Amino acid sequence: MIPSSFEYFAPKSVPEALSLLAKYQEDVKVLAGGHSLLPQMKLRLATPKYVVDIGRIPGLAYIKEAHGKISIGALTTHYAMESSALLKQKCPLLSETAAAIGDVQVRNRGTIGGSLVHADPAADWPAAILALDGELKVIGKSGERTIKAQDFFVEMMTTAIQPTELLTEIRIPQLPARTGSTYLKMHQKASGFAIVGVAARVTLDAGQVCQEVGIGITGAASKAYRAKSVETELKGKKLDSAAIKQAAQKAADGIEALADLHASSEYRSHLSRVYTRSALEAALSRVK
Ligand SMILES: Cc1cc2nc3c(=O)[nH]c(=O)nc-3n(C[C@H](O)[C@H](O)[C@H](O)COP(=O)(O)OP(=O)(O)OC[C@H]3O[C@@H](n4cnc5c(N)ncnc54)[C@H](O)[C@@H]3O)c2cc1C
Repeated sequence: MIPSSFEYFAPKSVPEALSLLAKYQEDVKVLAGGHSLLPQMKLRLATPKYVVDIGRIPGLAYIKEAHGKISIGALTTHYAMESSALLKQKCPLLSETAAAIGDVQVRNRGTIGGSLVHADPAADWPAAILALDGELKVIGKSGERTIKAQDFFVEMMTTAIQPTELLTEIRIPQLPARTGSTYLKMHQKASGFAIVGVAARVTLDAGQVCQEVGIGITGAASKAYRAKSVETELKGKKLDSAAIKQAAQKAADGIEALADLHASSEYRSHLSRVYTRSALEAALSRVK
């Protein structure tokens, strides 16, 4: 299919891009890696009159450590995340999640910023960013603001970002010692998208008592969510298989699980519980 016609802009700076977004408002779409937007345009699910390609703006693709946080530029590709030595050492959950996305072509073009703003309910990044308690920096004409990951995902393919704003950076708090993490998913065989995916992070004290825990679940509901009931059940408890098994039963509490040709809502709820248990056990085994 051929997209409907549009005017293309390739700004060279963030202010230039923001001026275009402010000028064209609801009629404009930002283009990053294009691996979600272009299929939507070809299917005419998106018919922007104006496309602002941010791919030529320098300085939006980086992974760095500063002020107790890891900062990631919105244009950083999935492959750059997967292969980053810094992430492998300091936040392996991010490199592991990146490696689980699509295939090598998708990982070479797709960006973390594009995936987060697209907010596909089966995308992998939202689970990891929620589990890690990340923050998203967005910039509009009137200035910048920071949105916590758990406030960013509003509904299926809807986030807290405005059409006149750009996501520029994702910030992840550095993980304390004695933390383990993992991302596990049952993937849809053709695309690699998650039928259900669970990212888990646990921090223990010297007596194996759970100090911090973050669990992000994608694929199960119309938006990725943080499994707060499971987290509350585990925090302050000595983590062992019995405690994990019991807490994981709450992984689908309060959600309306999705149903489609790949999985019924009952099966997705079941997978959420099973993958939460497995992800927590794997995270626990990686605490060091
Ligand atoms: C065959 C195939 C398999 C895939 N498999 C997976 C998978 O297994 N797991 C997975 O998670 N994803 C998968 N994807 C999606 C892939 O990860 C996309 O790259 C990603 O969802 C979108 O990133 P992008 O950079 O391509 O964004 P684009 O397609 O360019 O943009 C997506 C949306 O975000 C907006 N946008 C982009 N960047 C910004 C920004 N900085 N600020 C504001 N708005 C912005 C755009 O306007 C658009 O609405 C797959 C895609 C394909 C084609």
